[in-house]
Amino acid sequence: MRKYFIHTMGCAMNEYDSLRIASTFEKLGFVAAEEMEDGDYLIINTCSVREKPQNKAGSAIGRFRKIKKERPEVKIGFCGCVAQQEGEKLLKQFTYIDFVMGTDGLFRLEDIIAHVDSGKRLCDRDVNEGGLEIDIFKRPVTASSTVTIMKGCDNFCSYCIVPYVRGREKSRSEIEILDEVKYLAENGAREIILLGQNVNSYGTTIDKSITFPELLNRVSEVDGVERIRFITSHPKDFSDDLLAVMRDNDKMCEYLHLPLQAGGDYVLKRMNRKYTYEQYREKVLKAKDMIPNLALSSDFIVGFPGETDADFEATLIAIEEIRYDMIYAFNYSVRPGTKAENFEDDVPLEVKKMRLSRLLDIQKEILIESSEKYQDQVIEILVEGAAKKYENQYSGRNRQNRVVNFISDTILSSGEFVNVKITEPKQNSLFGIKI
Ligand code: SF4
Repeated sequence: MRKYFIHTMGCAMNEYDSLRIASTFEKLGFVAAEEMEDGDYLIINTCSVREKPQNKAGSAIGRFRKIKKERPEVKIGFCGCVAQQEGEKLLKQFTYIDFVMGTDGLFRLEDIIAHVDSGKRLCDRDVNEGGLEIDIFKRPVTASSTVTIMKGCDNFCSYCIVPYVRGREKSRSEIEILDEVKYLAENGAREIILLGQNVNSYGTTIDKSITFPELLNRVSEVDGVERIRFITSHPKDFSDDLLAVMRDNDKMCEYLHLPLQAGGDYVLKRMNRKYTYEQYREKVLKAKDMIPNLALSSDFIVGFPGETDADFEATLIAIEEIRYDMIYAFNYSVRPGTKAENFEDDVPLEVKKMRLSRLLDIQKEILIESSEKYQDQVIEILVEGAAKKYENQYSGRNRQNRVVNFISDTILSSGEFVNVKITEPKQNSLFGIKI
């Protein structure tokens, strides 16, 4: 039996695309290789949102090359956002890769594999204008499973490459989404995470569609679904209707990822984020008020072109004020092809690093404080799996998306809900005992 191996970089959307790549291989009779060295098809699914993952793609593909040197029959595929952006150039740069497939090539992967099997190289970065066209496919199911509800983005934040590589926003039909959710729930998923670059605008690109809050309610009616989350929500479109569903529907988790990116209005304007800090703050405070125990997370870009000391201080003030449960923060790096490429990258790297480290230090203190609140609390955990290294230890998450590792004196299966008493609230995860 031939085997495939997929190395995925970047965001949850990419993880989801990798599931779809996997399902195509499975449909063709391949099985997943546990080790890269065992794969007959080696796939890298790349991300170009930041510089680091893009550079990492180069080193991963180098490892593929070594394997192909020993086993020349191995086929190598370069997929995802970098493939969409660079196209044919990659075939020239890496002479040992067999195909380049952009973000919309998934629908044609079966044909691509047939083409490659016949010994030909190819590059496919055609765009599907029609929509998502996702089949109900035989995909891996986990206790917490993701479902893409839309692709692309129309927001054109000045630093972001997504609208150029993933194209304009397209919503998937409600029927397709619900069919996939039913399939997942029937096969053991208990938590559904709906994915999109800007989930709030779900439905605006298809006729006779429902809104995102309505979609959440429909998903919650599927038998077997016990928890629902979504990522990512753009603050400018975060509506009272959505907040009301989060408050009123018991299956909605008390978790919200609402990326602020920067605290200073000048920087937000240059980023083309279309809100001020005050507008963001108002929405967040309202959300915290309406939903007790709401956990918040956010993304931040540090050292955006033109960011002054005062702008950066505004970011720190925002972090102190909002008190996030989780922050994903990165130094700014130019993404070729974006509007911000034309801005002078005038914050020296040393300053960026210093600012990022200050930001993370502040967040660390906030996180320690928020973790300590869990000491001796009993919380409901969705079991995601057993720990590989330790006997009787399992891992899961609470409704606020906190990772919880815990000991159990009974054997558990993923997808079960258990109550765990927290005995050791660590910074990045909580530790406890099943009661
Ligand atoms: S909302 Fe902005 S940051 Fe998010 S994907 Fe769209 S353009 Fe990129």
